[in-house]
Amino acid sequence: MQLRFACALTGEEYVSQGAWRKASLPRCPLHPKGGCGFARHGTYVRVTPPGTQIARWYCPTGHRTFSLLPDCLAARLKGTLAEVEAVVRAAEQAPSLEAACRDLRPDIELPGVLRWARRRVQAVHAALQALKGLLPERFPCSATLAAFATCLGVLEVLVALRPIGEPFLANLSSPLGFRPRCAREGGCAGAYQQPVGPDPPRVAA
Ligand SMILES: [Zn+2]
Repeated sequence: MQLRFACALTGEEYVSQGAWRKASLPRCPLHPKGGCGFARHGTYVRVTPPGTQIARWYCPTGHRTFSLLPDCLAARLKGTLAEVEAVVRAAEQAPSLEAACRDLRPDIELPGVLRWARRRVQAVHAALQALKGLLPERFPCSATLAAFATCLGVLEVLVALRPIGEPFLANLSSPLGFRPRCAREGGCAGAYQQPVGPDPPRVAA
């Protein structure tokens, strides 16, 4: 189970400071009164940003591990929330997702980039839509990063939403929230799922 590690560090700072050593989970989330053998359980490694470790705990009674994900990192996706935000912002500003994708990942053929980008755009917009529903007075805007940035008066929306959305993170879609991704593609995107549409013509090399 992923939990929030509140920290104001960038991904680079988190790694250079070894900030996972400062992560603390004093009580078992399942057994706050103790007596379950809850203890620190080392760390696990994430590939990006290089050198990233995530602090982990284990409850032997509940057979559950708990990891503390810092605010800068995307949940269940590689890299940082800032990196995910950059992709979604590019898609929001471009005339089409195809147009955004041609610039984003020249190393991957367009259909591959489209899947990669669409997954991020859908997941982020689904989380924004859900937050609008949960906090309608706070977010009387459309469910885009551009609109949320204006609403919040911040440049980086996703990092700012981790503390605001904290009570709901377990039920918000990753990479903002910690809800597990669906096994079946499109299985839980529900009403927020966009039509996929035909693949665009491949760009000649
Ligand atoms: Zn426990």
